[in-house]
Amino acid sequence: MDPTELAAQVIAGNRRALARAITLVESARPDHREQAIVLMDAIKSAGRVAMRVGLSGTPGVGKSTFIESFGMMLIREGYKVAVLAVDPSSSRSGGSILGDKTRMELLSREKHAFIRPSPSQSELGGVARRTREAVSLCEAAGYDIILIETVGVGQSETVVSEMSDLFLLLLAPAGGDELQGVKRGIMEIADMILVNKADGDLKAAAKRTCADYAGALRLIRKRPYDPEGFPKATTVSALEEDGLEQAWTDMQTLISWRRDHGHFDRRRAEQAKYWFAQEIRHGLMSQLAREPLKSMIDDLAGQVASGEITPSHAARDVLEALRHG
Ligand code: GDP
Repeated sequence: MDPTELAAQVIAGNRRALARAITLVESARPDHREQAIVLMDAIKSAGRVAMRVGLSGTPGVGKSTFIESFGMMLIREGYKVAVLAVDPSSSRSGGSILGDKTRMELLSREKHAFIRPSPSQSELGGVARRTREAVSLCEAAGYDIILIETVGVGQSETVVSEMSDLFLLLLAPAGGDELQGVKRGIMEIADMILVNKADGDLKAAAKRTCADYAGALRLIRKRPYDPEGFPKATTVSALEEDGLEQAWTDMQTLISWRRDHGHFDRRRAEQAKYWFAQEIRHGLMSQLAREPLKSMIDDLAGQVASGEITPSHAARDVLEALRHG
């Protein structure tokens, strides 16, 4: 289908068109990429702005339970909810369980919910770039809240935070009183820490863990884009649907403050520049991976290894060839 026509159907709220559009942006075929660029230009006319919410947490912490409960709550309040995923492990496992419909049974049956698992691609960068476009497609299709799920490992939080207006970190109650080896970098990008499973026997531990993190967050330098009291830590129970209303109120408070103070638009502008740079980098890398440069690099790598040529001389030759190629 003509990508402009596809864009019109996405904007009109046609779910099948949305699914097709996401498949198109996920495709690595050069002709599909061209169509995807036309599509992405065309959907801008929708002029819609959703709340993009990143959500991270280690396996078992309760992400799918949270998305199910929280998503259902939002739908009851009249919102449309989309769930996407960035799975850093999808290349290895050959498929992703993140964003999987079977993990969110009620939500997946809702007419106002749209769930899409992570694309399986060879590298995190590729997955992330395409998910970013899927976020924009869902936004143009009229979804009010877009949840972008990822597992708490390595770089994936950073890339998800680069496509989110707000970043949630989901944690489980700790056994002792130690902080759960959460890397400082993640603490710095989290806008809200939700300590899940605050119910039954785990409730007291959840409250303790939450207090520990609240203390740790206070030590982090105040960020210019946060109102008083943020980033904040609270307890929730995804299973018993406890604390979800409060979490939603906090999210709205944060976003409206950022909107009122220009941070919301500024952040999106910064993110657009980030993805522009990523696209250029990715485009250059894929040129280097194609012939004739690929063979040239392989040959030169051998010569660098044997000491016939210095690394900087060899690199200069490759860059020259790239420039003239
Ligand atoms: P995910 O791997 O992060 O998506 O975690 P799941 O949502 O699959 O949850 C892992 C396990 O924790 C499941 O057995 C859930 O029933 C349980 N769980 C999730 N949320 C809660 C909660 O709020 N309270 C309790 N007690 N268990 C929960």
